[in-house]
Amino acid sequence: MPDIGEELRTLLNSLERYLMQEKDLFGNIIYSDDKKSKKGGGALPISAYPDEPWAAAKSVSELNMIISGCLKCQLGPTRLNFVFGVGRPGADVMFIGEAPGADEDAQGEPFVGRAGQLLNKIIEAVGMKREDVYICNILKCRPPNNREPLPSEMETCSPYLMKQIELIKPKFIICLGRISAQWLLQTNDTLSVLRGKVHDFHGAKLIITYHPAALLRNPNWKHPTWDDMKMFKRLYDEMKGVS
Ligand code: URA
Repeated sequence: MPDIGEELRTLLNSLERYLMQEKDLFGNIIYSDDKKSKKGGGALPISAYPDEPWAAAKSVSELNMIISGCLKCQLGPTRLNFVFGVGRPGADVMFIGEAPGADEDAQGEPFVGRAGQLLNKIIEAVGMKREDVYICNILKCRPPNNREPLPSEMETCSPYLMKQIELIKPKFIICLGRISAQWLLQTNDTLSVLRGKVHDFHGAKLIITYHPAALLRNPNWKHPTWDDMKMFKRLYDEMKGVS
């Protein structure tokens, strides 16, 4: 006699996994083709800063010092640490995730948990080290229960990221996952549409790959991630004149 309860649980687990994977690719809304649309306006502007002291910062460390007490949105009062970013201030390559998680909030550094360890391996796979690149997020503070960043939070926080990009002047930006790609490019296009291409972001080459946390959930995406990173490495070597 089959155990209906057990079968139902298995079915529900598979359904949950499937829906999580769909969310990684498409977001919370499952779009029908005719609903996909541009938010309108192309990539985020790089220098539409408010008239505030941080906008005049001359280095990333100065910027960090000025903004690390930020309380502009609801996340500020709930954080343990402001997670500014880490890496070489003049790095050629900048990795951008979505927002700090619990480990990052506790340590004040982006990508230090399990997803961060996988990111380190991805960086090492293309012959680089974590210290050679720059790593940060769209949001500098942790959203509660690891929920996705709200558009209002990204709106408030992303001028800081734009200033970081302006100071670091990366030649390559690698967006980790759908959220950072859609936000920077101001598009609703899905990860499947956005991956595999080189986008322009104010003169930097912007490449999109899977978020390492999504890879931990679905190892089948490791192969396409490797394809993305090989595309990046080819372009990077070309830029450096390495054949
Ligand atoms: N996920 C992110 O998007 N950023 C981090 O810093 C950690 C996990």
